Amino acid sequence: MIVMKFGGTSVGIPAHFDLATRLVAGAVQRDPIVVVSALSGVTNLLVELARDPAARPQLSKRVIERHETFAAAAGLSIGSIAELIEEWQFAALEWCADDAPLRAEQRDQLLAFGERFAAALFAERLRELGIPARAVHAGEAGLLTDDRFGAAHPLEGNASRLQASLGSRPPLPVVTGFIGATPGGWTTTLGRGGSDYSAALIGAALGAEEIQIWTDAPGLMSADPRLVPEARTVPRLSFTEASELAYFGARVLHPKTLLPAMEQGIPVRVLHTARPEDPGSLITPESGAPDSSWRVKSIACKKGITAVTVASTRMLLAHGFLARVFEVFGRHHIVVDLVTTSEVSISVTVDDASRLAAALPELEAIGRVEVRSGLAVVAVVGEGAPQKIGLAGHLFTLLGGVGVGVEMISQGASRVNLSFVVRDEDADKAVRLLHRGLGLDIEVPAEPASLAT
Ligand code: ADP
Ligand code: ASP
Ligand code: MG
Repeated sequence: MIVMKFGGTSVGIPAHFDLATRLVAGAVQRDPIVVVSALSGVTNLLVELARDPAARPQLSKRVIERHETFAAAAGLSIGSIAELIEEWQFAALEWCADDAPLRAEQRDQLLAFGERFAAALFAERLRELGIPARAVHAGEAGLLTDDRFGAAHPLEGNASRLQASLGSRPPLPVVTGFIGATPGGWTTTLGRGGSDYSAALIGAALGAEEIQIWTDAPGLMSADPRLVPEARTVPRLSFTEASELAYFGARVLHPKTLLPAMEQGIPVRVLHTARPEDPGSLITPESGAPDSSWRVKSIACKKGITAVTVASTRMLLAHGFLARVFEVFGRHHIVVDLVTTSEVSISVTVDDASRLAAALPELEAIGRVEVRSGLAVVAVVGEGAPQKIGLAGHLFTLLGGVGVGVEMISQGASRVNLSFVVRDEDADKAVRLLHRGLGLDIEVPAEPASLAT
């Protein structure tokens, strides 16, 4: 059994939708389960609809138009989504009558329609191609989560529930990515870009032989191809390398995607829907051939970061200082990315500063606090690369040469990641410069992207 996940551009452009459904048809002998995202642009539309009460009536019509126009362009009958449109219109009446921001559970119920429409359309096309298929709401299929609407966590016991509901095939399940449900039946969402994570959760639950992420890039590349046009596909990566890249901004994979795959040792492949003959990237426990193990493989970048420094001379030779600082972050649910310490201070970066204000008075009771926003983390990733003699020197000489100041440096404990913090406005320049300066635009000796190596 394999999981084939198709992202927004793969299902939201009629020509790609056609290719995607044919790819599934061509893979039936591998017993696929399909996971889909909303059609491209739809989740953004839904987010706006939830946010802006005044725009709701007009945007709710646009949501229907987007799916009807798409169905027509893809040559599908509107009948396949008629029931969903009716459900949408009924729910939209309530949202449009409300001129306040929607409650968190209403918002997730609304956002889920994007994936539900996409699954209905995809299953319909598969049936037209002669493959018995059914659209499945992931929450109803047993992907249960806690009630942290907008960023829900999967619950224990999902594997057996998903096996029970998706285990007997055909019909081929076309499952909604991005969404789940609370045990009480409220629809939840896993966070933006969460369909990749859904695919991995389902793949791990059902013991898939492979999890395929079909997208609009030819694989996990040496940098974001929108930022660095000469970026190259990285043929092989380890779970750790890919996790670090996803975590530090390589949007092609949701940061949590690799966890379920890693736990079960299931290979993940990133593939281009419009160029299925490309080998793509293969992510496995091992990073690839040992002789290339030190090589920097890719550079990721995450903007909109805030750095918090807590300084206190009381820290000098004292114990428990760091514990107190982290206890405050932990209690306020503030996720910390990079950490650097000196004798008398600790600096951390956080990417969601929304909870920081509440924690500041407590941090100020520990020491002098400085908060700097408008920063970016750049992560240089490759198994063994940070330990390579001269890499850090080379990297910071390059940056210094063009006047990019480095605010913090951290060598990830996983030994695959050298990260540093720059100003937001310098981040793109830093990534482009390092991509060239570290030779990532030069072709890597080919390693076959097959499991046999
Ligand atoms: P999907 O809709 O298929 O989930 P996303 O837009 O979420 O697609 O992710 C694909 C995009 O990720 C690419 O178009 C690319 O711009 C971006 N991206 C960022 N970093 C990388 C990287 N290292 N390799 C490939 N794509 C990347
Ligand atoms: N449709 C959702 C989003 O745009 C989930 C996903 O695309 O993975 O965030
Ligand atoms: Mg995505």
